[in-house]
Amino acid sequence: MQIWVNGRLQDAEEATVSVLDHGMTVGDGVFETVKTTDGRPFALRRHIDRLERSARGLGLPAPDRAEVERACAAVLEANPTELGRLRITYTGGLAPLGSERGEAASTLVVALGPTVRRTGATAVVTVPWRRNEHGATAGLKTTSYAENVVALARAHQHDAGEALLANTAGRLCEGTASNVFVVVGGRLLTPPLSSGCLAGITRALVLEWTDAEEADLPYEVLQEAEEVFLTGTLRDVQGVSRVDERELPGAPGPVTAKVSEIFAARAAADLEP
Ligand code: PLP
Repeated sequence: MQIWVNGRLQDAEEATVSVLDHGMTVGDGVFETVKTTDGRPFALRRHIDRLERSARGLGLPAPDRAEVERACAAVLEANPTELGRLRITYTGGLAPLGSERGEAASTLVVALGPTVRRTGATAVVTVPWRRNEHGATAGLKTTSYAENVVALARAHQHDAGEALLANTAGRLCEGTASNVFVVVGGRLLTPPLSSGCLAGITRALVLEWTDAEEADLPYEVLQEAEEVFLTGTLRDVQGVSRVDERELPGAPGPVTAKVSEIFAARAAADLEP
């Protein structure tokens, strides 16, 4: 496996990033996961836009877009694959302990991962922890995913595939690696970005391609919604079959199935939406 590290392709087994990289020591980094089909990245421009926004939000120097594109192309070419995912990681770079991150020393790593596609309906759990919609990193895709890891572990303890979080105002926010949509009274709704959720690319495309609307929703909507589904790069549109103890028989329901169909058709027709 060849991966891109700081300007060149290297053998993954031998490639190194310093243990004193700010991304490693303080989680000062941002990332993207990009779906690839037949060796071609999906919505790469949107992913690089978000990488840039997240980097700016952390105060990192802007990543070199041309280098990110070149790196993705080089990694895909060096590792021909049917279907997979690119992982782009961009961090504060080498910074000796106790020092500030080096302004010009950011680290860029692009690697290719195996296909882990989350298909079929999944169970979800609610959790007691709150997403801070007012936090400094709200809405940024940072490498500090420890909270998400803990929430997902809770889901796994309950044989569920995802945990859904509320924000500090008790409003529905997002999952650990997904955005959430609900059907209420026949309307298809998803929390607004002001809830603190990530500006998911799959979420944005569902909003563009269907009649889904943004709405500020109470967390409890999950206990009443006619249908619930998740969106994300590795799951596209995934139905929810259970929320905590509440079964949603027949998931994916008719609205979820329709959205899933529209998404698959549009995404297949356009790799650069
Ligand atoms: N929310 C969080 C916290 C995520 O990590 C992700 C993606 O991994 C998403 C939402 C979904 O975003 P996207 O559709 O861009 O993959």
